[in-house]
Amino acid sequence: MSVKKFLISLLFVLITASSSFAASWVNFPESWDIGQAFAISITSTADYSSPTVTWMNRSIMLDVEQGGAGRISYGFLGSDVRNIKPGSYKILFEFIQGGKKYKASGNIILRAREYPRENLTVSPKMVNPPKKELPRIKNEQKLVGTALRTMTQKRMWTTPPQPPLTSITLTSDYGKQRVYNGQPRAGHSGADIRAVTGTKVRAPFAGTVVLTGFHYYAGGSVYIDSGNGVITIFFHLSEINVKKGDKVVKGQVVAKSGATGRVTGPHLHYSLSLGGQYVDPIPLLSTSIHKMLQLGKQQQVNN
Ligand SMILES: [Zn+2]
Repeated sequence: MSVKKFLISLLFVLITASSSFAASWVNFPESWDIGQAFAISITSTADYSSPTVTWMNRSIMLDVEQGGAGRISYGFLGSDVRNIKPGSYKILFEFIQGGKKYKASGNIILRAREYPRENLTVSPKMVNPPKKELPRIKNEQKLVGTALRTMTQKRMWTTPPQPPLTSITLTSDYGKQRVYNGQPRAGHSGADIRAVTGTKVRAPFAGTVVLTGFHYYAGGSVYIDSGNGVITIFFHLSEINVKKGDKVVKGQVVAKSGATGRVTGPHLHYSLSLGGQYVDPIPLLSTSIHKMLQLGKQQQVNN
């Protein structure tokens, strides 16, 4: 056997050996508060492909990156305070390694969290819209539904996010039960931040604009997809500086705040949708994916 042939066969043996000794883990929290984002990951000593995590009936595509002692996939998940009840919910991880499909599942206990109530007075047509506006509202709901189902594999989000405004003073928290002119409506899907009309609004993450428009309730709106089901949403904008399909970098000015749509005054409404679940975007401004993963538990998938 020539030296070259020997080296090639040795390399082959090493590759085969390393792939059959791949060790992989998933990481997720055992329990979490409803409405709050949590972090998950898949890590492995060897390469793998097509990682997904299924949570709240949605399959979320994850990226595969170099990290730690091999490969890693990061994800952000959550539960929407407006429609998720306390209880135990299944989480399922899947990926392909060495031609084999691996699955790992577990349960996450979601705990109730008290969110306050708020009484608001707005124009009567913003509580019970005139009949002629119903087709418009229905069409906008369809566009938003499609935007929120955007699923791309490349991770464009990095933590901590860029705060959308230079100064963050909340005027209304995420999750607040809202009573408009005495009529109860769904809880608050985002956080309201104090901002005079015309304040620059920056993209918290890099990504692609998937929807913009001036909608009946939301007013001037921008939706940015940052991969793995992470979508940033701004409402009540006075001016929009991007259009659908535009790539944005983290910190880029995408709009100016305003008082359009159903509002009691000028402010920025900031929402974060994770795999279709609206979560509180504010706690994320002061943490990182790595800190959040430390609150989870490792579960071995293969070795
Ligand atoms: Zn709001």
